[in-house]
Amino acid sequence: MNEQSTREIWKAVLGELQLQLPRPTFETWLKHTDGVSYDEHQFVVEAPTPFAVAWLERRMYNAIQKTVEKVTDRPLDVVFRVRPGHEAENGSVTSSGQTLELESGQDEIQVKPQAQPPAAFNPKYTFDSFVVGPSNQLAYSAARAVADAPGKSYNPLFIYSGVGLGKTHLLHAIGHAAASRGLAVRYVTSEQFTNDFITSIGNRTTEAFRQRYRSVEVLLLDDVQFMSGKEQTHESFFHTFNDLHNSGHQVVITSDRPPKALALLQDRLRSRFEWGLLADIQPPDLETRMAILVSKAKNLGIRVGESVIELIAKRVHKNVRELEGSLNRMVAQAELMSEPITVQSASRILEELTADTERHAIDPERILEAVSNHFRVGTDSLLARGRTQKIAHARQVAMYLLINELEMTPTQVGRLLGGRDHATVIHGAGKINGEINEDTHLRRDVLSIKEAIFA
Ligand code: ADP
Ligand code: MG
Repeated sequence: MNEQSTREIWKAVLGELQLQLPRPTFETWLKHTDGVSYDEHQFVVEAPTPFAVAWLERRMYNAIQKTVEKVTDRPLDVVFRVRPGHEAENGSVTSSGQTLELESGQDEIQVKPQAQPPAAFNPKYTFDSFVVGPSNQLAYSAARAVADAPGKSYNPLFIYSGVGLGKTHLLHAIGHAAASRGLAVRYVTSEQFTNDFITSIGNRTTEAFRQRYRSVEVLLLDDVQFMSGKEQTHESFFHTFNDLHNSGHQVVITSDRPPKALALLQDRLRSRFEWGLLADIQPPDLETRMAILVSKAKNLGIRVGESVIELIAKRVHKNVRELEGSLNRMVAQAELMSEPITVQSASRILEELTADTERHAIDPERILEAVSNHFRVGTDSLLARGRTQKIAHARQVAMYLLINELEMTPTQVGRLLGGRDHATVIHGAGKINGEINEDTHLRRDVLSIKEAIFA
């Protein structure tokens, strides 16, 4: 292994990535990394903090791996690790201490008193921009109460609903409000919490991890249903929760279902979640949907006639994200054609959108195709009897995804996969489920297959 050429390779990789990525992303996450070694299997990259490592693994793995592969012309895996001597650093700020630039959808935000402005949260997700109706009144009022007096009203506050109904919006709104009063707020998805925890074990920085989470005054944990799997992570969250709760600090949790239905959660954690207030959000009624559309149109600075608003609100009712998406599509189309949005054009676009969703609906074939592309095994061999280790593994990943993403039963999956019995499927899917949190390779495989499925 040649140190000079490792550096040169990494320099070339960074050069490519700099062209592909938004400047703040590059400056914050990649500028301070080094390529340190490689062999025929992997390329090792060092980053300054555990947080940066976790972020790169989660957000940039595919882009970096592809670029390394391109530059070296070899199918290398990329491994990230913390630069020696920096393991115990608090990973939540960049080495220069600058504010993290946030892109929408970014997973983790830490606001320290005086250190970071409330602008760290998505500026669009505030209490003011949240339209209140009967379907979300309870969750909204509770979120406001919690933001006004953290730790004093409902603790924890547990908000649950289907997708696209405003959970993340409310968490950010609480974040804004609390941060602007100088409180230490931390927003984190449960996937990020899990990764962060696992990374801290790998780097032996669990103490820094503890400090990071237990020093906050308001902890906002998004999508707790994804914190499935490992006992140890639950254990760690249990202790974090207790510490925060005992010190009178606020915890807000969201989930796609009520605590009782979180099958994989430890009982004692589940019962903690029920200590405070459980607030659900239902799909909005027609009137609220119209109010939301009016408000979004106003934010976009465009005029949309009432009949068009009503048409969209009547056709799209599952969730607010789709509602917004339909409106955005119409606005884009109207701008493209330099024409106002009419009931006719709106209705045509809605039809196209429905056709699109049908086309993009994920079905078992799409999953099998993504799995077979990823592992470079033929779809037919997934269904056949053969079981080289590679194929058997790919098949188990397929079982896992079919059950988790399509909620198929083991019997249905067995039938689909060439007539296997349901015990085989349970075993296969269970194996992946058990390994996924500890095995970084597997986790990346599954993440990138999911990217392909939902692309
Ligand atoms: P969830 O986290 O429940 O999946 P999000 O909070 O991401 O949903 O909401 C999806 C989109 O819908 C966001 O753009 C959000 O601003 C918007 N949204 C949801 N509910 C409302 C509401 N009551 N008023 C305004 N916008 C909303
Ligand atoms: Mg969300």
